[in-house]
Amino acid sequence: MADATAPYRIKGETGEWEVVIGLEVHAQVVSKAKLFSGAATAFGAEPNTQVSLVDAAMPGMLPVPNRECIRQAVRTGLAIDAKINKWSRFDRKNYFYADLPQGYQISQLYHPLVGEGSITVLTDERDEASARTIGVERIHVEQDAGKLMHDQHPSMSYVDLNRSGVALMEIVSKPDLRSPAEAGAYLRKLRAILRYVGSCDGNMEEGSMRADVNVSVRRPGEPFGTRTETKNVNSVRFVQQVIEHEARRQIEILEEGGAIVQETRLYDPDKGETRSLRSKEDAHDYRYFPDPDLLPLELEDSFIED
Ligand code: ADP
Ligand code: MG
Repeated sequence: MADATAPYRIKGETGEWEVVIGLEVHAQVVSKAKLFSGAATAFGAEPNTQVSLVDAAMPGMLPVPNRECIRQAVRTGLAIDAKINKWSRFDRKNYFYADLPQGYQISQLYHPLVGEGSITVLTDERDEASARTIGVERIHVEQDAGKLMHDQHPSMSYVDLNRSGVALMEIVSKPDLRSPAEAGAYLRKLRAILRYVGSCDGNMEEGSMRADVNVSVRRPGEPFGTRTETKNVNSVRFVQQVIEHEARRQIEILEEGGAIVQETRLYDPDKGETRSLRSKEDAHDYRYFPDPDLLPLELEDSFIED
């Protein structure tokens, strides 16, 4: 049997490589209503039957924060021993896409609701010695976008806005994970915590939990290499496949004397490979700024205690 405490290494043509992984998990918040509107969030409803004027971004509509969604994110933060920021703020992340009628997503870049925490994982469930503590950088709260359907009509795409405005928690790990097995253990543990506190149903098949997988490789002991980010991976097994595939692809490039470009990639589960989607955007590309429709969020001690 493999030793779960031995460091994970990949053998290349010219020696051994270490893999560095950070996961950004989007977890849909369990709540009857959306983050800034009273529209329902039930899964599987008829398209466009759970869309308020706020979610459809009609001019003049104003967002009102849903207390329960904030409560769920705080609950999650407390469950991973994280710092709860009593003062946080919502920012606009501007981009155009057909499933985003507002033209921006309300998110939290500069002042997230939840700060640093940690999750302890066992890579081998029967071996306490395989325990490792993985840092969590932050949890912020943001709106989900709608959904485009490309397979309903031969020449047109349809837009379903039911998901538009649903609350998500983005749970960002530190680049502390070192193997596919460890990433799998982290995701399963995180899912168990979310289910236990009831803040997310953890259902990856239905998309209520999905991961952006950041991967880089380095020679053991060297500084971190350039990472790629593979978006929206929706099963633990796929996350592990992405890491293996991406690490090997990067090693091949580096051993041939090439360089890794920081980019966003997509996973194709049928082919078992990732492909480039776009060069990686930086925060300034989105022209983030504090959302003028919303006051900063200030939490009272009693709210957190509760
Ligand atoms: P962005 O929105 O640009 O993806 P975030 O800070 O939200 O930035 O997330 C960055 C993610 O990438 C984190 O999970 C972090 O742990 C991970 N990460 C950062 N540097 C590396 C690296 N060199 N290799 C692998 N993962 C990394
Ligand atoms: Mg990201």
